[in-house]
Amino acid sequence: MSKRKLQIRPLQVEDYPRGQRTNLLLPLSQRALGTPVQVPFIVVRGAQPGPVLGISAAVHGNELNGIRIIHHLLEGLDPDGLRGALVCAPVANVPAFEAGIRRFPEDGVDLNHVFPGKAEGTPSQQYARALYKTFIGPLDYLIDIHTASEGRVNTMYVRADLHSQSCREMALLMNPQIILHGRSGDGTLRNAARANDVPAITVEAGNPSVFQGRMALEGEFGLLKVMTALGMIKEPGLPDSNIREPLICKSSRWLRTRSGGLLETHFALGQKVVKKQLLAEIHNAFGEVTASFKAPSDGVVIGMSRNPLSVPGMRFCHLGSLGEPAPPKQPRTGRMVRHLAETGTTLLPERGEPPST
Ligand SMILES: [Zn+2]
Repeated sequence: MSKRKLQIRPLQVEDYPRGQRTNLLLPLSQRALGTPVQVPFIVVRGAQPGPVLGISAAVHGNELNGIRIIHHLLEGLDPDGLRGALVCAPVANVPAFEAGIRRFPEDGVDLNHVFPGKAEGTPSQQYARALYKTFIGPLDYLIDIHTASEGRVNTMYVRADLHSQSCREMALLMNPQIILHGRSGDGTLRNAARANDVPAITVEAGNPSVFQGRMALEGEFGLLKVMTALGMIKEPGLPDSNIREPLICKSSRWLRTRSGGLLETHFALGQKVVKKQLLAEIHNAFGEVTASFKAPSDGVVIGMSRNPLSVPGMRFCHLGSLGEPAPPKQPRTGRMVRHLAETGTTLLPERGEPPST
């Protein structure tokens, strides 16, 4: 029988044997029967000391590509040849994963809006607190893998604060099609990590509720490049032909329809569009065009709806605004830390930088 009160404590990498992979199921919450909700973690502790990289997936329960990316990465990884450690949370939101849905099922809340959670809060806040306390403590870096939400499709893109040198470098190393600048939003796991001095980025890998082989390969490729730059593994001999020049977006917005009908789009994921270019038309039930939507500005298509049924206000195109973000208002001072000496990497944790909002 499980204890009535949950014992939540940070994972300690030192508790696990060097040069080995350890699979864990940790009781972070309880069901209505009082049985434990066990959350899977994988600790791969290298034979040599080094940085601790956290990789999480399925913070939204139906975003599955990240799970496959983690599995692919670990299949090819030799713990004996690893410096530092990987701490993976392949199914971060177990209740939503088991229900096959995006949101936390007990209260219908988006778990990625309530980090770092509250010990005496709502069901999602208490779960977020337990996950945050267990997972974030040992990390030096975090990569949180998501996908588009239901009914939408995404390019492979990264959300990162490009004013942080560490986040910028991790974003570039992930080799995405697009990097979207942004201070991490309130309540996200990324923001909670950064507030704890852990540089963190979000990888948006494709579409929800599916395994996409291409995304698994691209995600693994990016993670191997990050691990190489951190000095965790030796250059794995990745094919240079796969390296691409990501498009940098300083901001983005969702374009919404303003009338109901059947939406026909005239753009593709990753496509650059120009101001006033025809993006979409609405047809009525007789096939007549009743409305059209043009690009309000130049940009690149980051994501799009795949549902042709439109009512006014439906998001249909996630349009990125190309270019570097304006410099931050206050200069930030990074602090030299132990990883530089250990690994020679220029990826510095953000201690000394102001907490993100
Ligand atoms: Zn997500």
